[in-house]
Amino acid sequence: MSERSYGREFGFMTRAVHTGNDVDKDTGAIKRPITMGNSYELPYDPSDINWSSAEKALYTRNGGVNQNYLQEKLAALAGTEDCVVLASGVAALSGIFFTFLKSGDHVVCSNVTYIAVYRLLTDQLKTKYGIDTTLVDSSDLEAVKAAIRPNTKLVHIETPGNPAMTISDIREIAAIAHSAGALFSVDNTFASPYHQRPAELGADLTVESLTKYINGHGDAMGGAVMGAKELIDRIRADAMVNQGGCISPFNAWLIMRGAVTLPLRMRQHSESALAIAHFLEGLPSIRFVAYPGLASHKGHRIASAQMQKGFSGMMSFGLDADADTHNRFVSHLKVITSAVSLGHDESLIVFLGPDDERQYLYPEEFHRGFFRFSVGLEDVEDIIHDIQQALQQVGLL
Ligand SMILES: *Cc1c(COP(=O)(O)O)cnc(C)c1O
Repeated sequence: MSERSYGREFGFMTRAVHTGNDVDKDTGAIKRPITMGNSYELPYDPSDINWSSAEKALYTRNGGVNQNYLQEKLAALAGTEDCVVLASGVAALSGIFFTFLKSGDHVVCSNVTYIAVYRLLTDQLKTKYGIDTTLVDSSDLEAVKAAIRPNTKLVHIETPGNPAMTISDIREIAAIAHSAGALFSVDNTFASPYHQRPAELGADLTVESLTKYINGHGDAMGGAVMGAKELIDRIRADAMVNQGGCISPFNAWLIMRGAVTLPLRMRQHSESALAIAHFLEGLPSIRFVAYPGLASHKGHRIASAQMQKGFSGMMSFGLDADADTHNRFVSHLKVITSAVSLGHDESLIVFLGPDDERQYLYPEEFHRGFFRFSVGLEDVEDIIHDIQQALQQVGLL
């Protein structure tokens, strides 16, 4: 890509297509190949090589070419100096926690996040490593400020949050974290870099589960952290080289391929999700719809300011019915698939029942159980029709 530069910065779509790809020098192929070797040839005298270094191609756990290509593309999309790709989104998150925290430190974290974040912070890091976490409603800036302690080393948020769709003000929280001398990380998985770039708003570290929108095809797992090289190098050394969370070259290649169409897919996800959210909001049997693109969403104003070109394809909603009816509704769906994960080509729905252990942390309307819904790339009319016919089957339309 650098060879293609004119000294002006390319747009997001051009970067999604070209960055990290190049003509393969050996074959002339216009796509770089998958390099599945797990080891790289050593120089004549290897005695001064640091075996724990990620500096040069040595062994795939120390870094490999397909990882590097993907890192280049993701840093270009996130607008950061560097990126490390790892085996999963959770490997990226635990990579941040285990690299930058030690016993006696304190973390401020959004109260509703991806479940593994909750588990890691409130269970493993707390009981085994003596790291304390305060969970706060990060849409409430006063609550974030009040949670800061002298030993707060990290503020971590998700916006939009999984699965409550909470919107938090990235720029304001960056200022709070930085004035406390803490690092600030943002899990950007629900938005993807197409709709939101936390680094431009003051985040030190941006996390993406590549498993979701960036790969986009439901067939590979990966995770990434983006930020300044100095921070990313530390995660690379700890989480990848010494803790072993490296991604396979094949998954890196698949994700690289998926990322090319990220902008086009996100446009469609967002357009369809907005139409579906409006449709759901108009139905009497729908108890609530949480989608940041709706004017009725509590975080709509902030989401409109910090997200760009739309609000992504994730929403939550609840039927005015009991848990069993929610399950029966799902069993009648024919286009939408009942499965975890999100950001795939196909629409995915998951029912989170009223007995979920974290319900007390969710906003009131979520307490009776709700769906997390990832709007896919099918015809929007087919998705809407699928919801209509399933509602009819359970007597709600
Ligand atoms: C899925 C998800 C993760 C975890 O990613 P994996 O690739 O499944 O490990 C982290 N954060 C958010 C917001 C997610 O949706």
